[in-house]
Amino acid sequence: MSAGTAVELPLELVQVGGQAASKEDAIAQVAGLLTRAERVEAGYVEGMYAREAQANTYLGSGIAIPHGTPESRHLIRRTGIAALQLPGGVRWGEGGEVVRLVIGIAAASDEHLQILRRLTRVLGDDALVERLSTTRDPADLVEALTGERPAAAASAASPELPYSAQVTLSNPLGMHARPATQLATLVKKSGARVRLSREDGQSADATRLMELLGLGLTRGTALTVSSDSEAALRAVVDAIHSGLGDDLSAPAPQATRAGAPATERPRPAWTPANVGTTLEGVGAADGLVIGTTRQHAPGAIEVRDEPGDPAEGAARLDEALRAADAELRDLIADVQSKFGADKAAIFLAHRELLADEGTVQDAVSRILDGHGAAWAYQQATNERVAQLQKLDDPTLAARAIDLSDVQRRVLRHLLGLREEAGPSAGGPVILLAADLTPSDTARLGPDTLLGFATAQGGPTSHTAIIARGLGLPAIVATGDGVLDVPDGTLAILDGSAGRLYLNPSEADVNSARERIAVLERQREAARAARHALGETKDGERVEVAANINRAADAAAALEAGAEGVGLMRTEFLFLERDSVPGEEDQEREYRAMAEALGDRPLVIRTLDIGGDKEVPYLGLAREDNSFLGIRGIRLCFERPDLFLPQLRAIVRVARDHPNVHVMFPMIATLEDWRRARAIFDEVRAELGAGPVPLGVMIEVPSAALIAEQLAPEVDFFSIGTNDLTQYTLAMDRMHPQLARQTDAMHPAVLRLIALTTQAAVKHGKWVGVCGGAAGDEVGALILTGLGVGELSVSTPQVAGVKAALRSRTAAELRQLAEQALTQTDAAAVRALVGAPGGS
Ligand code: PEP
Ligand code: MG
Repeated sequence: MSAGTAVELPLELVQVGGQAASKEDAIAQVAGLLTRAERVEAGYVEGMYAREAQANTYLGSGIAIPHGTPESRHLIRRTGIAALQLPGGVRWGEGGEVVRLVIGIAAASDEHLQILRRLTRVLGDDALVERLSTTRDPADLVEALTGERPAAAASAASPELPYSAQVTLSNPLGMHARPATQLATLVKKSGARVRLSREDGQSADATRLMELLGLGLTRGTALTVSSDSEAALRAVVDAIHSGLGDDLSAPAPQATRAGAPATERPRPAWTPANVGTTLEGVGAADGLVIGTTRQHAPGAIEVRDEPGDPAEGAARLDEALRAADAELRDLIADVQSKFGADKAAIFLAHRELLADEGTVQDAVSRILDGHGAAWAYQQATNERVAQLQKLDDPTLAARAIDLSDVQRRVLRHLLGLREEAGPSAGGPVILLAADLTPSDTARLGPDTLLGFATAQGGPTSHTAIIARGLGLPAIVATGDGVLDVPDGTLAILDGSAGRLYLNPSEADVNSARERIAVLERQREAARAARHALGETKDGERVEVAANINRAADAAAALEAGAEGVGLMRTEFLFLERDSVPGEEDQEREYRAMAEALGDRPLVIRTLDIGGDKEVPYLGLAREDNSFLGIRGIRLCFERPDLFLPQLRAIVRVARDHPNVHVMFPMIATLEDWRRARAIFDEVRAELGAGPVPLGVMIEVPSAALIAEQLAPEVDFFSIGTNDLTQYTLAMDRMHPQLARQTDAMHPAVLRLIALTTQAAVKHGKWVGVCGGAAGDEVGALILTGLGVGELSVSTPQVAGVKAALRSRTAAELRQLAEQALTQTDAAAVRALVGAPGGS
């Protein structure tokens, strides 16, 4: 923003190192500066007192802007600004605010607005406020208040942030609101200045949530963190590496055609006999319910621009922000007691959005330009909502609804509106809406609400997360058709399938009711039996293990019923830091995992870097087809400096822990396997260790096709269905438009799996599956039928997979698998198995 005609601030109008006994004394001193510089007549101070009696001129961040009433304007000789610094502070309003910078204003017209605008930028920069409140050099104040250099740019200047480090963001959903909130809180507590910069030069102050979200940081983005404090830099880098509260091992969501991330493959919980009008969306929370519908359409909040006194407007905004914050604190306590801390964290993020300095500053700046407080706040937040909606990443774009939620809360207070009645008021219904805010959703309850379907939204929105916490079935991205459904329409909502069936027949209602009762009993039974051995109905053993990457997650996996770890993705140790982990660090982590599992098996996979797993600090060459290039074992052959230390760390642990198994990723040829084994054997010999069970991952079609040659030489196979599917069907596993088709149940993939198990059986070796298909209940049944003996799945899937296995005999599963091999497509294979839990 260009400054136009600059307002001068001569040094005679600046006083640093002052003291004031009271607010009145401070006002008298600043008026004295203006009087001595012949800007105002001596009586102007009375106008300043009168103004102060009408409304407090405290602006925020320890800054006040006393100025005269319109009636005292005739006492102004020439527009002038005076700055009085009070390092010891003086109490200002009744709220106990302490002011250290008093900016006296005598404005004949509106030139002073430039200085006020600049002041609002100063307001948002705590470090700058601190400096201006304590500097001994009046020129610092002059520069900050009149200079062309904006305060935000000053905070990015590298001489002031001399410490920096490179990090890569590993959070599966990128820098969304919750990790950004943790980061902002950490940095605020440290009192240091910290900036995050992308490679393209965009940067953000780490204390400002909106700026952080605005960077649109997705998983794998390389960042520079810079700070004025070495300790703060370390703390921030460590916090980013440890995930800022997110589980870094979770897979990144894939996107659906509509751009919304897909959850699990849609799988009807129930199928109607007579299909009437059906609305299809994306399943956001599982469950099946029957009920009548009701539209939820809260009216938009109309805001007119009602210009008023700027200081009064700023004070009203401040009051509304405080009231909204108090409301959020109550909501956090309520949600925490009902649904747990992780759901409550969503509203912690709302508190941060509310406190975002950039937004408040922008709103205040508009107020100072003469606009009404509500209008100014709405404009400032609308701009940011629009920015978020534009982000490519659907998860980050979904945060727009969070900010709209916060905006509504503040506007209610500014306009004196009452809180809307909960959308569920009036009885248990299936709620239909364009979208629901997290606050709406948190007010819902299973007592009054059966489930909901929204026209917009995505399954990773906070609304969806809360719905899952509430145990309410929900579908999102259903399209605008859902808004035309009349209130009181009988409907069946299937959250697993992402479908809303309208006006079902009586027979369908009855069959859905029976199905609901069955599903409820099955869920309870699966949980209760999670510690039983994995086996089919007739006792054929199938080990159900967990895919976890850190020893810290082992206890939770075992508690969930896991019988071991079928895949430890070691590359996460590399992805979570900004330099290669040392041999000792690696050994410590592998040893902790082996110990945590006791005598249960642990399968450690050697480094699988490349494809979508980039490690910027390794400086690897960019590849046009990264999934087909130097990835997995191919990279390890190229980089013995990475491979050998890892193998030494593993072998040392395996020497003490016979439960350790090792497998190599991306084996495509017999030569790959033999070369990997030879290197491993050399390391073993060097360390004087005995044999360690060695396996290969079957995730490249060629490996499955030569399984017959590999089988005599390996100890086991572990099938990576994620990659095996992408390479067999030539469909990028990350491709949003192909997500629904990239299904491991395609008979082409199943035939390769059958070749693998047949070869293994012939040579007496075992076969596991550690790709996503193992945790999908249909996948678990078909894979077992094909001869797989170990299923390694994510921790929450363990109980369900064990229950699914117990529902069929081994012979039934073999027959099912045989039929699956002859189907034409994946949908036909899924149809063979039927509804979840069997029907
Ligand atoms: C797989 O490809 O199925 C697998 C388990 O490996 P990742 O997902 O780590 O590539
Ligand atoms: Mg793989």
